[in-house]
Amino acid sequence: MVEMPAPNQDVLNRADAIARDLTDLIPDHCVISSAQERRAYEADGLTAYRQAPLVVVLPETTAQVSRVLAYCHQHGIRVVPRGSGTSLSGGALPLEDGVLLGLGKFKQILDIDFDNRCVVAQPGVTNLAVTQAVEHEGFYYAPDPSSQIACSIGGNVAENAGGVHCLKYGLTTNNVLGVEMVLIDGTVLRLGGKHGEPEGYDLLGLMVGSEGLLGVVTEVTVRILPAPESARAVLLGFPSAEQAGDTVADILANGIVPAGAEMMDGPAIRVAEDFVQAGYPTDSEALLIVELDGPEAEVEELLSRVSHLAENNGATYERVSHDDDERARFWAGRKAAFPAVGRITPDYYVMDGTIPRHRMASVLTRIRELSEHYGLGVANVFHAGDGNLHPLIMYDANDPDQLHRAEDFGADILRACVEAGGVLTGEHGVGVEKRDLMGTMFNDTELKLQNRIKCAFDDQGLLNPGKMFPTLHRCAELGRMHIHHGQMPFPDLPRF
Ligand SMILES: Cc1cc2nc3c(=O)[nH]c(=O)nc-3n(C[C@H](O)[C@H](O)[C@H](O)COP(=O)(O)OP(=O)(O)OC[C@H]3O[C@@H](n4cnc5c(N)ncnc54)[C@H](O)[C@@H]3O)c2cc1C
Repeated sequence: MVEMPAPNQDVLNRADAIARDLTDLIPDHCVISSAQERRAYEADGLTAYRQAPLVVVLPETTAQVSRVLAYCHQHGIRVVPRGSGTSLSGGALPLEDGVLLGLGKFKQILDIDFDNRCVVAQPGVTNLAVTQAVEHEGFYYAPDPSSQIACSIGGNVAENAGGVHCLKYGLTTNNVLGVEMVLIDGTVLRLGGKHGEPEGYDLLGLMVGSEGLLGVVTEVTVRILPAPESARAVLLGFPSAEQAGDTVADILANGIVPAGAEMMDGPAIRVAEDFVQAGYPTDSEALLIVELDGPEAEVEELLSRVSHLAENNGATYERVSHDDDERARFWAGRKAAFPAVGRITPDYYVMDGTIPRHRMASVLTRIRELSEHYGLGVANVFHAGDGNLHPLIMYDANDPDQLHRAEDFGADILRACVEAGGVLTGEHGVGVEKRDLMGTMFNDTELKLQNRIKCAFDDQGLLNPGKMFPTLHRCAELGRMHIHHGQMPFPDLPRF
């Protein structure tokens, strides 16, 4: 189990009283304190780690969120925000002494504004529901994580979620116009909105990707886009990942920005094809799915240029979608790659790192070497256009040794990404999973700077502690860390 901050014994002793107090602040049916019901919240998508929370609250209004947070702030109680619980980095992993604050009841779309091309939604609305609310008028919400039927728009903001269409249309951060949020002391704030953010520091930008450490998002305003006039996808099979990677680089270098450019390696192609029969070439070692959108004539022209570039790089298979059903089938295999791998292994561990595109082949070779070293299988899917890798490490969680090897294998993959000039995460966040690797990416000064920002929002470190930062310095000691003859300042302060 990953090390979490030591529980506050005083809070644990007061568990029943805290649950009672909470029912004075919000309706009884919004507080879950029975051991059996709390278990439903013990993990998120990173299921290897589990911990039942002290108590679960499911508020229904911003005012209730504010009252709960103010109470926790006043009594020094930790809080873990949760959307749909699909995080793959353990961001919503509860704490034994913490209140789990679920936004599952914030399910309403509050405003659809076609004139200003935006939607205002409560944070518990699913990503897909935003598109479904506007598609009758020919609009859609561009960021499309594979988990879009389940993940919440609030969780997308907290994780800066991405998806297939983010290469052309940007990640969540490029599509969020504003949020309403509640600080740990209960203060309600608005950042940005339909008309963007005023001058000053980009606090909205700071909130996107803040993983529940800075505040609780209670409303989100997102940009919607008119659906493109036409879209077609092409499957391109190659004998090697290097050829597929070179093709992606050539496509972008030639000024073509696809709506999506995804890659799967041989093992991923074969399990996905077996699962959904998408028409993938099972004898290829790398598959590219490239989608082009826009006016029909332009799409036609771009398809022929992409095809030409792929042929130059030795493509051995090519199939263009002829209608939207076929295009959806091409994507179905990619979007089902995770569950497809789940059919052939008891457990799998999804990694998420980003590398410069031209390092794709060498990092893939390194992953294969590591797979042999650790004796665990791996299938790879990539958001190739963004250089974002998702190796899926196969293991059996019932065997503690395999779990341990899978964790070490994953950490080595992320180190390889950083060594290749990349970064620790593309879209799944740091959470608990990559927390202890932050030092490979950031130096002490950079980490302290980030800690100071955390302190500006949450000076007691009550919001989602144990996530994102390997060590959470007490705010008082930041900036005054002088080590004299090896003696730590403030030795009585807890560090983890
Ligand atoms: C099968 C599968 C496929 C996936 N594919 C993708 C993908 O393609 N792209 C991608 O980006 N991700 C993907 N994910 C990961 C996950 O779906 C995203 O990170 C998503 O944004 C999490 O949303 P959630 O509502 O489930 O958040 P949760 O898991 O509940 O929480 C995630 C984090 O956000 C915080 N949080 C949640 N809601 C709020 C709020 N209202 N205010 C403040 N903090 C909050 C939590 O504290 C936690 O740190 C996938 C997950 C699965 C299981």
